[in-house]
Amino acid sequence: MLPFKLVYSDDYFLPIGSHVFPAEKYKRVHDRLLTTNIAAASDFLSPRPASDDDVLLVHTPRYVEKLKTGTLSAMEELQLEVPYSPELVRAFWLAAGGSMLAADYALNDGVAISIGGGFHHAFPDHGEGFCVINDIAVAIRRMQRDEKIRNAMTLDCDVHQGNGTAVIFAPASAPGNPGGMSRTRKESIDVFTISLHQENNYPSFKPPSSLDMNLPDGLGDDEYLACLGNAISLGLSKFRPELICYVAGADPYREDQLGGLSLTIEGLKERDALVFRIAKAENIPVMVTLAGGYAQELEDTVTIHCNTVVAAKEVFGAK
Ligand SMILES: [Zn+2]
Repeated sequence: MLPFKLVYSDDYFLPIGSHVFPAEKYKRVHDRLLTTNIAAASDFLSPRPASDDDVLLVHTPRYVEKLKTGTLSAMEELQLEVPYSPELVRAFWLAAGGSMLAADYALNDGVAISIGGGFHHAFPDHGEGFCVINDIAVAIRRMQRDEKIRNAMTLDCDVHQGNGTAVIFAPASAPGNPGGMSRTRKESIDVFTISLHQENNYPSFKPPSSLDMNLPDGLGDDEYLACLGNAISLGLSKFRPELICYVAGADPYREDQLGGLSLTIEGLKERDALVFRIAKAENIPVMVTLAGGYAQELEDTVTIHCNTVVAAKEVFGAK
């Protein structure tokens, strides 16, 4: 039995047909975790979908209405890069509910992992890059609304920049000292966003995160891990979060079809372990979502995602 919970539903499956996004990966990860005895059936929690009110904490009423009524424009549907259907919308609402549940359990157990989610390319008013709504942001805003956390840090290690997350949590300018000059406006941040990504990759326009690490093509394990350690140190020196939302994309893998970094499977596991070791040492709960993974061999993507659970088990200790 694991000392933390995994969140999963068969309904995480995305009904997108034949697609570079392997929608069956969630079930494959779930099944592999069980057959290899990494996890037991009792380690899994089944999520409920987010409510529309939860989704509206992040997304605009107009966009939510379009999704619920199937009235996206042709251009908006194209931008999603996955075929629209009511079933697709339901799967994304469930992914957001899964991230909410994982965030809640992470606060109690130190870590929790949703075997799904990580849809970091969804903006308040539109979706893109296979991401319909931003489950990470919905989870954070719901936890804040329930006063379970005041602030959070996103740590996005998908190979693609977390553009939607960056925009959702971009600092709002607030008036500074009323007696001061207008140039003394101060930025208010309640979610610090970190993104480590390949610079020469989608999205072409990268709206600024709180901290962006633009990585060169072909970067390998050692250099990547050094960058990650630096990014976390720098982030934690500027901001003390009550929750880390770790986006554990499998696509920095050297054999990923949509990535151009050169991490090995072992390097990716060490990446996960590094994040968990720091979170544990700093006593900051960490909620994990899987995000992208497009390896030429689906089994490699499944292994990388399963290794995230193994790394958490090794760091947080098996009972
Ligand atoms: Zn990605």
